[in-house]
Amino acid sequence: MTTVIYTGQIGKLPNNVRSACIIDSTVKTGCVEVAPTWDIVMGVKEYKACCQRGVPLTPTCVSIDDYKRIYKQMLMDSFVKNEVFFTNLLKEPTVVFTCYCNLKTPGIKFCHRVELAKEIWEYFSPLGYDIVLGGELN
Ligand SMILES: [Zn+2]
Repeated sequence: MTTVIYTGQIGKLPNNVRSACIIDSTVKTGCVEVAPTWDIVMGVKEYKACCQRGVPLTPTCVSIDDYKRIYKQMLMDSFVKNEVFFTNLLKEPTVVFTCYCNLKTPGIKFCHRVELAKEIWEYFSPLGYDIVLGGELN
């Protein structure tokens, strides 16, 4: 059985995916199995703000590369720790990971929901799961 994984913005999902398994991936209200931490969410926000203002980075800034690396490690741990959650998820025909980022906003090049879909595909496909990345819904 194939699982198609999409990503999308909360509140902007097309009607035809309302019956899909929609997973809130936000730090605030999201599933703990896939949510990032406040540290990296606030850190990357601060990093972007410092870059935009052209001021020196602070010790709590988290660059996008660091965010990706830390979040990937979190997911690798979660895939092992929460195996049942993920194997159940991969029994669904359609899964949508959501958060609030508007990827159409100029300058927004990165959102963790896209990383999440990619990491699940990379980790679970070699284990025999048939996963297709459907990309961003809009
Ligand atoms: Zn996001």
